[in-house]
Amino acid sequence: MANQKKSRDMQGIVVGTILILVLALGLYSVINQFTGTKQEATDKVYPIDYKGQPFLGKENAPVKIMEFGDFKCPVCKQFDETVFPQLKKDFIDTGKVAFYFTNSQVIGPDSLTAGEAGEAVFKQNPQAFWKYYDVVYQNQGNEAVEWATPAFLVDLIKKNIPEVDAKKVSDDLTKKTFQKQAQDDNVKFNNTGIGGVPAILVNGKYIENGLSYADIKAAIEKELQTK
Ligand code: CA
Repeated sequence: MANQKKSRDMQGIVVGTILILVLALGLYSVINQFTGTKQEATDKVYPIDYKGQPFLGKENAPVKIMEFGDFKCPVCKQFDETVFPQLKKDFIDTGKVAFYFTNSQVIGPDSLTAGEAGEAVFKQNPQAFWKYYDVVYQNQGNEAVEWATPAFLVDLIKKNIPEVDAKKVSDDLTKKTFQKQAQDDNVKFNNTGIGGVPAILVNGKYIENGLSYADIKAAIEKELQTK
């Protein structure tokens, strides 16, 4: 009898141990799954529509960068003045990166006006768009003030981008020729769910700190390695 009881106790211990092991394994795989998902989230590739957007560099460059930006956004101006020249010199001019821009309108109603004027310039002369991009940021006003009026933008174009017909841009703004196009671009930005501008994506991968040249450079180099 004593032996039988001992053997039943042993059975109980064995079954209990197995149960604990199974539970621990289960828990381990669940935890693993969660960390796995988190890892995937940081490597998320956003579907980006590059078609019809202004770009700089070689179209078939191995890496594509998309900037979603608002001409009224002070941090976008900062990006244009600090990160962009370095990026252009090291990667765009060397044929490694094609740099694209999609206008988004997050600051104020005149963000849309600036976006429409950008589309009008781009339509007339795709390369002149990048002059517009620089000159608007250089002359950016206070984000709380509606400074990006048609008159202001047309005057900027007239003074700085002689290869573009400023009168035609003025007409396009009056007729709202490119309003729908500019609004559609903003929808594309909203659909990413990212929210803040400038949003910099390297081959569709979002760079948390768009003002960090080091982070963007590291992401580009990672993409170049996988090519
Ligand atoms: Ca566009």
